[in-house]
Amino acid sequence: MKEKILEMENYAQEKNVPIVEKKTIAFIMKYIKENNIKNVLEIGSAIGYSAILMASAGENVFVTTIERDEERYMECLKNVKSCGMDKKINVVFQDALEVNLSEEVKYDLIFIDAAKAQNIKFFEKYKYFLKDSGTIITDNLKFHGYVGKSEDIESKNLKSLVSKIEEYINFLKENTEFDTKFYDIGDGISVSVFKHEKE
Ligand code: SAM
Repeated sequence: MKEKILEMENYAQEKNVPIVEKKTIAFIMKYIKENNIKNVLEIGSAIGYSAILMASAGENVFVTTIERDEERYMECLKNVKSCGMDKKINVVFQDALEVNLSEEVKYDLIFIDAAKAQNIKFFEKYKYFLKDSGTIITDNLKFHGYVGKSEDIESKNLKSLVSKIEEYINFLKENTEFDTKFYDIGDGISVSVFKHEKE
């Protein structure tokens, strides 16, 4: 397994596939263990690196992961199989904004790690799939140090993307359904815990 993980890290670097930073996935794996998390939904599988590590955080951890890029999806399937994780990881090949997941399955943790400009859409769509007191973790909230400096960015595309991430951060801060904490780990993450209503 260790060798396979190293191989995936090398593949990601060679092929320029963005994968979660080591400190971030270590944080998530610890979170999974400490909170007895069993059912995880991931938006953005890439080659399966984070899905495999999350699934390995506990014997009873199951991951559903969604990827829209065919080449990455195929690579993800291959990696899941060669790690012997096919019973613990379900890989879905579709755009996460178009998938119709079963509404009967609820998740303890949702990891949002796909198109960064779509974070609010992913959050609003998938919050209904959370269990009571479930958590949504989102990666890349610093976006390589650009977040908070969108005014000074010259490239139009980058500026627009960074503004969307800034908008998402404000959305989380103002969201009264969730308690959100921000952590300066890796490329910056948020941990949003669903507050179920007290009567
Ligand atoms: N979570 C992966 C890891 O750490 O190993 C990395 C995911 S990578 C940062 C983001 C992935 O999300 C890309 O492979 C991209 O194709 C995928 N993606 C982006 N938007 C998506 C969408 N709307 N639906 C499904 N996948 C999407």
